[in-house]
Amino acid sequence: MIARRLTDIKSGLPEGVTLVAVSKFHPVEALREAYDAGQRVFGESRAQELRDKAASLPADIRWHFIGHLQRNKVAIVVEAASMIESVDSEAILMAIDREAVRRGRRIDVLLEVHVAAEATKTGLLPSEAVALAAKAAGALEAVRLRGVMGMASFTPDDPDRIRADFDRIAETFNAIKSGPMAGNPDFDTISMGMSDDYEAAISAGSTMVRIGSAIFGPREY
Ligand SMILES: *Cc1c(COP(=O)(O)O)cnc(C)c1O
Repeated sequence: MIARRLTDIKSGLPEGVTLVAVSKFHPVEALREAYDAGQRVFGESRAQELRDKAASLPADIRWHFIGHLQRNKVAIVVEAASMIESVDSEAILMAIDREAVRRGRRIDVLLEVHVAAEATKTGLLPSEAVALAAKAAGALEAVRLRGVMGMASFTPDDPDRIRADFDRIAETFNAIKSGPMAGNPDFDTISMGMSDDYEAAISAGSTMVRIGSAIFGPREY
């Protein structure tokens, strides 16, 4: 079932779009099934869950952290993840950089941009993301700033709003790419699109989709 859904989704993705299989709250057996079907990039939203799953699954998996990151969890996440997609403050960005330096490793990050209508969704305003990129561009030692991540509003009945949100995320990426990160080929990632809206995200320029329930089924909270 998981393998089938994974293959179906993958075959519909254009070349150059990375699939992050969002496996939060699903048991290790489900991840193993996806792994056996060839999936190597997984997304988790809680630090301990990420650490535990990483410890019991093969080492060639690339783990993406996609949840809200607290300062006291930075060490756990820097140890286990290859990319942190949800950087939403200068303090967290610098804490990640210090931790990665301490461990002698490099880590990729995305700036999380908030454009959705819901007040509960975390992230930087587009202008704040550009300002943070400008400030961080020369200051990071072990972190590679790779791009932006964002979510569209939860408005299933309003595809125009979803499309407008994705356009704003892509515009924020372009503002950074042609501004503070100009000439840096590492800045290449727009992570947007989930189970219900990834096709719209791709047509708005997404290079990375984060898909959970369409692969693993509904989550139990
Ligand atoms: C849970 C989650 C997803 C996956 O959502 P689905 O609707 O299950 O595909 C993607 N991105 C983030 C940040 C998430 O927290």
